[in-house]
Amino acid sequence: VESELVDYLRRRIGSHRLLKLGPGDDAAVLRMANVEECVMTVDVLTDHVDFELAEIDPKRAGRKALAVNLSDLAAMASEPLAGVVGLVLPKSGGMQLAVDLYEGLLALAEEFDVAIAGGDTNSWDGPLAISVTLIGRVTQSGPLLRSGAVPGDRVLVTGSFGGSILGHHLDFQPRVNEALALAGRYRLHAGIDVSDGLSIDLGRLATESGCGAVLEAEAIPIRDDARRLAKELADGSSPLDHALGDGEDFELILAVAAEEAERMIAERPLEVELTNVGRFVARPGLWLADSSGGREPLSLRGYQHEFD
Ligand SMILES: [Mg+2]
Repeated sequence: VESELVDYLRRRIGSHRLLKLGPGDDAAVLRMANVEECVMTVDVLTDHVDFELAEIDPKRAGRKALAVNLSDLAAMASEPLAGVVGLVLPKSGGMQLAVDLYEGLLALAEEFDVAIAGGDTNSWDGPLAISVTLIGRVTQSGPLLRSGAVPGDRVLVTGSFGGSILGHHLDFQPRVNEALALAGRYRLHAGIDVSDGLSIDLGRLATESGCGAVLEAEAIPIRDDARRLAKELADGSSPLDHALGDGEDFELILAVAAEEAERMIAERPLEVELTNVGRFVARPGLWLADSSGGREPLSLRGYQHEFD
């Protein structure tokens, strides 16, 4: 029951420098010295849509619920501060499920020094839904938006793409530290995290910036999982197709002036690979260029929730 879960949370969450008052009252109280601007983000994850609880350790689902929010703060080059958790539990087995979800989530919160300030828990005769809301601090370099790319900018990406359904979508490392390190050291024009697919999310960034982009097919870093998946499915889709369209890579796409991009790649400021995969152009749209100089329009492949 709910009161048992509150007792568990009070014991488990303990103290954090930002938490003046944690779980247990009607609302939590945060200490927020020196925070002039906040960013705020929310994600809702559902069993059978964002994971299959019957097939995984629920700790990984709890971890993912926080990680996708951290990825959004990374996309804004903002520092995570605190969060709250909304749970709608299936009635049967709900208590154990809640504890497992929280254990996965809290381990990642500790890793990123995020204060989990509390949450709300309901139950029903339906599948699990878990929602995390996070606030973050805008750093000196300001929030990184989707709208700052200009024609001529390079398209830089962290990491590699495709095949996340094989496990990466649960266990990925949100690029928070990478985003903060880059924003502190280089001039970034725009950024977005890849939640729905490299091509669709690049398209979103380009659209918000009022420009287009050309991707170099040969430059796109492809995850081994994309190759494995293409082989397993044997449906004619190539590893590159998976890299462009699969989604849930939770890597960063950044728009950076050409010279700055060269410097970033030469200086290798991150442990994870930074790759120049193309450039922004004045004409709206998205293209895929091959090594022979040919260029074809790229359809925006990726995941979209459907509703009327
Ligand atoms: Mg995002």
